[in-house]
Amino acid sequence: MLDWNRHTRTADAVRPMHTEQPGGIMRFSSCTDTFTLANGTAIPCIGYGTFETPADEARVAVREALEAGYRHIDTAAVYGNQEAVGAGIRDSGLPREQLFVTSKLWNTERGYDKTLKACDKTLNELGIEYLDLYLIHWPANRKQFGDRAQELKAETWRAFEELYKSGRVKAIGLSNFLPHHIEPLARTAAIMPMVDQLEVHPGWPQTSAVRYCQDHGIQVEAWGPFGHKDVLENPTLASIGAKYGESSAQVCVRWALQHDVLPLPKSVHEDRMKSNIDVFDFELSDDDMRVIDGLRGIGGSCADPDAVDF
Ligand code: NDP
Repeated sequence: MLDWNRHTRTADAVRPMHTEQPGGIMRFSSCTDTFTLANGTAIPCIGYGTFETPADEARVAVREALEAGYRHIDTAAVYGNQEAVGAGIRDSGLPREQLFVTSKLWNTERGYDKTLKACDKTLNELGIEYLDLYLIHWPANRKQFGDRAQELKAETWRAFEELYKSGRVKAIGLSNFLPHHIEPLARTAAIMPMVDQLEVHPGWPQTSAVRYCQDHGIQVEAWGPFGHKDVLENPTLASIGAKYGESSAQVCVRWALQHDVLPLPKSVHEDRMKSNIDVFDFELSDDDMRVIDGLRGIGGSCADPDAVDF
């Protein structure tokens, strides 16, 4: 049995641990140890990503990830693999309550009624009764929606609140929302977002957005923690990793955790799945954290949510 409460972080533990609580990060000793969301929900500190995992590979990949030790799976309606992800979860034989499953509402389904229907569809595709976390995938932006963008975000969030109250979704949050998207949403929200899933990796730390979330009790998750792989080529990361006997990928995962950011590494290869969570036997020094914090322009999409047209 997993002990969700072991090593659970307290709500005030939202500052960079490597500077303000030396050694605190070592309370995490496995990827099943948990951050605690603002509503008290325990969330395993590393999630397994499934973006671009084709449906015909996702079933096996998810089962293998769960066998490797992951208990937190990140998917989305737009990935087109939710049925396979659900099958992989069932194949693992793990009890539902030991798993943390996240999905996201795609951009075409915004609005109150469409959101409720889209969530039902996602639950059906995954073959589960509830989601542990549901996220609005991208903020409706002014570029596409003009003055209606804010209303659309607010209506969508109202449906998220409804889903949360109904128990079909245990926690609710956002993805790709920057502070200037969160502030107006918070003015009309009855329930504050518990998570913001942002592109965060060495070279694209999104420091001000991360700080804003941490100051407001919003857990940040890092999508693309390897910058879709590009970042792993960086020689600085490789040389820092070599000092600890760890790979660049392990350095990326560890760097996120030491910023209290929850990384979502993706790999369809078993050896990489395992090594990407084998990050609890070393700690990056403050100096190395600062060097990594200073990297810029080393990969990833660095997408601007106000500029995207999807
Ligand atoms: P990642 O940054 O996790 O990089 C994945 C790439 O790195 C794959 O090509 C993978 O290849 C490779 N890789 C993984 N581990 C290693 C390793 N140890 N050594 C060498 N190469 C490695 O990219 P993603 O874009 O997939 O992001 C992670 C997750 O974040 C997604 O899967 C998804 O769940 C989420 N996400 C959310 C978004 C959002 O808008 N909210 C947007 C994008 C992603 P291989 O599989 O062949 O091992």
